[in-house]
Amino acid sequence: MANEIRPPVVTIMGHVDHGKTSLLDYIRKTKVQASESGGITQHIGAYQIEFNGKKMTFIDTPGHAAFNKMRERGAQITDIVVLVVAANDGVKPQTIESIRHIKQANVPVIVAINKIDLPDVYPDMAKGQLAEQGILVQGYGGSVDVIELSAKSGKGVDKLLDTIAVTAELNELTADSQAPLKAVVIEATMDAKRGPVASVIVQQGTLKVRQDITDGDTITGRVRGLFDENGKALSDVTPGCPAEIIGLKSVPSVGSIIKDQSANYEVVAETEVKTDEDLEFGDFDFGQILEEKPKLKLIIRADVEGTLEAIEQNLDQESVELIDAGVGDVNENDIGYAKTSGASILAFRVKISKRIKELAKNEGVKIKFYDVIYHLIEDLQKQMLKLLEPTIDEVVLGEAEVVQTFTMKGEKIAGCKVKTGQIKKHDLFHLKRNDQIIANPVVKSMMHGKEEIVEVKAKNEFGMTFKNRKLDFQVGDIIIAYKIQDEDI
Ligand code: GDP
Repeated sequence: MANEIRPPVVTIMGHVDHGKTSLLDYIRKTKVQASESGGITQHIGAYQIEFNGKKMTFIDTPGHAAFNKMRERGAQITDIVVLVVAANDGVKPQTIESIRHIKQANVPVIVAINKIDLPDVYPDMAKGQLAEQGILVQGYGGSVDVIELSAKSGKGVDKLLDTIAVTAELNELTADSQAPLKAVVIEATMDAKRGPVASVIVQQGTLKVRQDITDGDTITGRVRGLFDENGKALSDVTPGCPAEIIGLKSVPSVGSIIKDQSANYEVVAETEVKTDEDLEFGDFDFGQILEEKPKLKLIIRADVEGTLEAIEQNLDQESVELIDAGVGDVNENDIGYAKTSGASILAFRVKISKRIKELAKNEGVKIKFYDVIYHLIEDLQKQMLKLLEPTIDEVVLGEAEVVQTFTMKGEKIAGCKVKTGQIKKHDLFHLKRNDQIIANPVVKSMMHGKEEIVEVKAKNEFGMTFKNRKLDFQVGDIIIAYKIQDEDI
């Protein structure tokens, strides 16, 4: 049986707020085929586009949670990772975490430096920082593709898609559509009207309507319907393509592999998916850090058992402490319980009466309402990061105050005095005013008198120029030199 070229499966990773969702939305909005637009877009965990005649599948849940969940179960569906780094923010803790996962999974990476539409941004800063983390992009000692883009204006996005197409071609991604079916579950939920619904990406073979399928364990069913992300019914789904399956008797786990009940699977096929025993969800040290850090305490109320299960399956137990979970509306007891335990309440498609809302407000209990699982998971991830950021984020190396400003040969110079620590030319920098970071400048030169210097210690005065000639600094501003804590990747 012949191996045919299949579309690449692309995952977008990067630090929170660097624009992963915006990029996914922009690509989806602008690149879905004309004939399909106008349909009702649905979230099925992945979507497919066609760019210059080439199909590509994007995992629609940004971040590493889904990626890890699948790898944890031995399924690696991602062929290419796009690592998004915001040009105005540079490499951040979750960027470093993503790099670790990319390296462990050994998948090709393309760097997307996002938000280049913002004023005063220096994509080069991020490139230099990436090099420190072992991602050597073109022009910075390596060959990793790097695209500067704006998910807001769309500038550079075509170039990214082009690079994805070339990377896919170079990696010769093929699969056999005649082989026994293997489809990885990327999302699963209990739908009130349609029953258990599983979104999958086919890895090999062909998924067909009326096929008898199983998750290889206890869950079975017959495919009653297959749908794409536009709600369009499909009759069959080939490798590299996503689809939503209706017809399973219960909700399968994310990462499980859907097979054909009747097909004969050779034992060797099982070893085809790589496992990585070192990597568990949260490996990036969520666990270690959380030994000292409090866990996120949660009480969950969901509409039906199936959804509750799906939510629980998606929680990272290392970082979340589930105080209580159950089916039904949020009630008075929940508020009391949340208050005494310090938990937040997550309400998934359940009612919250006005009285309960009032009560929660008075008691200072946070209730968050969701009706899409991935929004809930994404939010949790963001909260987790907020919890972790101070410990894993930045190490301040030195602080200097701008004591005067002057211009020489058309270049604005900051005359500074080091207050604490020391400052080196190649450090990372924040410019702070009134205790707020107003820019992350890149230093062009440091001078003591007329002499160029590369480092300066406390109490000394020195002059500084920045690569961004328009950088707005003034007397009284503070320059912070820092580094990202070494994560020992
Ligand atoms: P995510 O957390 O990585 O998914 O980030 P989001 O896509 O939610 O974006 C975070 C914020 O950055 C939002 O306010 C976006 O509007 C904004 N944003 C994303 N991409 C760009 C961009 O290219 N330019 C600008 N100016 N803002 C952007």
